Amino acid sequence: MSQILITGVAGFIGSNLADRLLSEGHEVLGVDGFTDYYAPEIKAKNVVRAREDEAFTLVAGDLLDLNLPELLRDVGSVIHLAAEPGVRTSWENFPTYLRRNVEATQRLLEAVAGHGGTERFVFASSSSIYGSAEHSPASEDTRRRPHSPYGLTKLASEELVSLYGREKGVPATSLRYFTVYGPRQRPEMAIAKFIAAAARGEPVTVFGDGEQVREMTYVSDVVDATVAALEAPPGGVYNVGGGDRTSINELLHVIGEVLHTEVRIEYAPRVSGEARVTWADLERAKKELGYRPRMSLEEGVAAQAEWFLKEASEKNVEG
Ligand code: NAD
Repeated sequence: MSQILITGVAGFIGSNLADRLLSEGHEVLGVDGFTDYYAPEIKAKNVVRAREDEAFTLVAGDLLDLNLPELLRDVGSVIHLAAEPGVRTSWENFPTYLRRNVEATQRLLEAVAGHGGTERFVFASSSSIYGSAEHSPASEDTRRRPHSPYGLTKLASEELVSLYGREKGVPATSLRYFTVYGPRQRPEMAIAKFIAAAARGEPVTVFGDGEQVREMTYVSDVVDATVAALEAPPGGVYNVGGGDRTSINELLHVIGEVLHTEVRIEYAPRVSGEARVTWADLERAKKELGYRPRMSLEEGVAAQAEWFLKEASEKNVEG
């Protein structure tokens, strides 16, 4: 049986995806460099369950250094999630974003093109390539105008993926994920920070007036779309959103209801790089991938809060 390679397997989305593919009986080869964008210990914990499965192999290494042709030897499909995420730090740390997003993607694509036998190459792109979508949802053909250096590196990576599809026959699909949340969410992402602060009774900091709007996508919906892309004909680019939008102020209200607490908000100046509105047109993904987001914001936030509280209580027990 051929392996599915997941790059960035120990990250938030990668580890959830690995758990799903393993539960469906696939053999998974996971690669992760355990970079320090956030604590590598958190990433190690994300793959504890997967590592108990004998169909899972973990390679701890950087895509910029590894022998990729050797890594791809028994691989049938590739899901490329490894990247330096986050908008805010991409201004001052741009070289890291170039290396981990653009260079690493090109190095992997070159190895995949040389390998020849790859059935699918699925790339995790991002809504951040669009910029703001204030008046109508962004369709895949909407003009792309990133608001941050991070978005720019995701756009460049996505263009590389298309280029290798056209010129070197890599059977590639790009998925533009819209703000993903759920268990194992990166600790610096808004919902994770809000839940952690509200659970401790601390005030939450909101950058800007809180009226910025986000299309939020629960992680199992993102996993559904990614698995569907492995089956669908290659060559497409798809938006993967949650089907609903919320302002940050509304989101904090939901978090307060879920945690039965009054969330205290401290507003701070807006930071550059963030779009005012993200909004996905999902028609193409629905039609061609059979994608249907299933999780409502209330259920999704409740599931993430439940996960967070369980983790926090285990940490307390461990001392
Ligand atoms: P994450 O940081 O939790 O996971 C990324 C993983 O990649 C990390 O574990 C990191 O150690 C690893 N990595 C980074 N560079 C590497 C390299 N050169 N070699 C090997 N491993 C490397 O991030 P995430 O939120 O799970 O995001 C996964 C992907 O989805 C990223 O490509 C991101 O751009 C994209 N995405 C995420 C969101 C979101 O809301 N989380 C939205 C849009 C797109």
